Amino acid sequence: MSQYADFYRQSIEQRDSFWSEQAQLVDWKTPPTQVCDYGNPPFAKWFVGGTTNLCHNAVDRHLASRAGQTALIAISTETETERAYSFAELHIEVQRMAASLLAMGVKKGDRVLIYMPMIAEAAFAMLACVRIGALHSVVFGGFAAGSLASRIEDAEPVAVVSADAGSRGGKVVPYKPLLDEAIALSKHKPQAVLMVNRGLAPMHLQPGRDHDWAALRAQHINAVVPCEWVESTHPSYTLYTSGTTGKPKGVQRDTGGYTVALAASMKHIFDAEAGQTFFATSDIGWVVGHSYIVYGPLIAGMATIMYEGLPTRPDAGVWWSIVEKYKVTHMFSAPTAVRVLKKQDPAYLSKYDVRSLKALWLAGEPLDEPTAQWISSALQVPIIDNYWQTETGWPILTLANGVEQQSTRFGSPGKAMYGYDVKLIDESTGEELTGANQKGVVAIEGPLPPGCMQTVWRDDARFVNTYWKSIPGRLIYSTFDWGIRDADGYHFILGRTDDVINVAGHRLGTREIEESIASHPNIAEVAVVGVADSLKGQVAMAFAVAKDATGLTDDAARLTLEGEVMKQVDKQLGAVARPSRVYFVTVLPKTRSGKLLRRALQAVAERRDPGDLTTMEDPAALQQVKDLVG
Ligand code: AMP
Repeated sequence: MSQYADFYRQSIEQRDSFWSEQAQLVDWKTPPTQVCDYGNPPFAKWFVGGTTNLCHNAVDRHLASRAGQTALIAISTETETERAYSFAELHIEVQRMAASLLAMGVKKGDRVLIYMPMIAEAAFAMLACVRIGALHSVVFGGFAAGSLASRIEDAEPVAVVSADAGSRGGKVVPYKPLLDEAIALSKHKPQAVLMVNRGLAPMHLQPGRDHDWAALRAQHINAVVPCEWVESTHPSYTLYTSGTTGKPKGVQRDTGGYTVALAASMKHIFDAEAGQTFFATSDIGWVVGHSYIVYGPLIAGMATIMYEGLPTRPDAGVWWSIVEKYKVTHMFSAPTAVRVLKKQDPAYLSKYDVRSLKALWLAGEPLDEPTAQWISSALQVPIIDNYWQTETGWPILTLANGVEQQSTRFGSPGKAMYGYDVKLIDESTGEELTGANQKGVVAIEGPLPPGCMQTVWRDDARFVNTYWKSIPGRLIYSTFDWGIRDADGYHFILGRTDDVINVAGHRLGTREIEESIASHPNIAEVAVVGVADSLKGQVAMAFAVAKDATGLTDDAARLTLEGEVMKQVDKQLGAVARPSRVYFVTVLPKTRSGKLLRRALQAVAERRDPGDLTTMEDPAALQQVKDLVG
């Protein structure tokens, strides 16, 4: 048996002793008395009885041995600023932020919503929250007022931390007006708002509610805020993600399990060591930003890079110049970003010395072979695909090169990671598929390993009903992805089983986009599907029926309505959710019982055969779509 196979087997067959050993990688105030309590499946409690703190493990525990070493490097090619913080400096800034939050009335267990661009203060805010036992809920800065409002309503934050503006491609994006609008839209009103003023956009501070970070920071310049030791099962944060229904789910994560899972992943998956440098190009608004911009690298004692800007500005060499300058050892990005770079002059890649890189990890969406081949030969380092979800917090499928070097297989994210009892389930029978190369739903037998979601925020029933299926005697978590596994244990992901689409690595629920479009006064009905795209993997495409179609035979009128619909999505959800096209049809393809034929619609939009259409009400409906997409 290979070294990894043995390691994996131990993690499943001797679960408690395996994870008990991993728990040694982190600091505990009180050590756990029980490794895993799975007495109430599917709710798993990890490291019961232990008390710890995520911020302590990310920052304070390094002070004794590496206080002067770099912890955080914030680079913005938008504002042309770069600032590095040592662990000692980070410790000071986090305490100032923690003291400010406490002064604003935030207490243990309260939620703090963070709506920020990629600036150092965003990391300070996250670390400050977990330091005092408050839960952060980071909302991606690209989301608009409507999306933000629904998250404020669900998380009910006591406080919000935000900034005057972000910047993208040289264009300033003011955040404060969006935040004010979201708070106005939301039934829940946060009692305090902390604003970081970058001097990018004017902002109005509402007296009594809004505070200026510079002023509060000055008041708490010498703040000493000890870490609040919390139960291992105390939630560290919630992070919203899209699913089948319109309402986003708050993925709730614990403290002890997450800290252990990240520490273990830094060792076994990333083969990382203290003093090295990690550069994840994601955003703190996504799970990669939580696990591998902020917490994972810091827990491992590494320097982590936070980058605000595009991969192509000032030119397509900017990331590689950062790799050269900071001797980045571990880089983490998404296939779409690589496809964007592939379109640029390849000379940018050879201009910089990237020999410090040990590997490039890519995640978030399927990695196609040509993209993997291109970047692999350009960088001359291993390209490691990894598959996981907001829900799991760390990779489900990849290679654990820290345990044993294994070869990549292009097109496959790799093998089941230790702790994940990955199964493939036959959708029609619900039975486990045990043979090689059989297509099934990728599933994980409970308990989910440490670091994965505990529940849906304030909705245990939704957690159980959404994700868990029972097969005789066992409870299985569904990833909602199709997959196959070859004879050597390498898995291949074949797309979602639900109505979630993946645009440039961003997960979007088509229902959410449909709801936004349908709220336009002239839209009667709409269907949104994900359509294959050579750059972004998928794009959202909308097919809408207008209430008043008079005039829509005219190109200009159609374009005007299409533009209005797109603007509405931008305004309510954010530009990330904007469909690439809105086509107008007179009828949507449905079954005789009125069920929308999404798969058929998607197939036709991708110019594929729609398959069996015997249940379709009106065959002309698909013909219209065919004519429109050409
Ligand atoms: P998110 O929760 O936003 O990270 O999205 C998770 C979803 O993205 C998964 O359920 C997959 O559908 C997709 N995904 C993530 N990583 C990969 C990968 N390496 N290969 C294929 N699909 C992926």
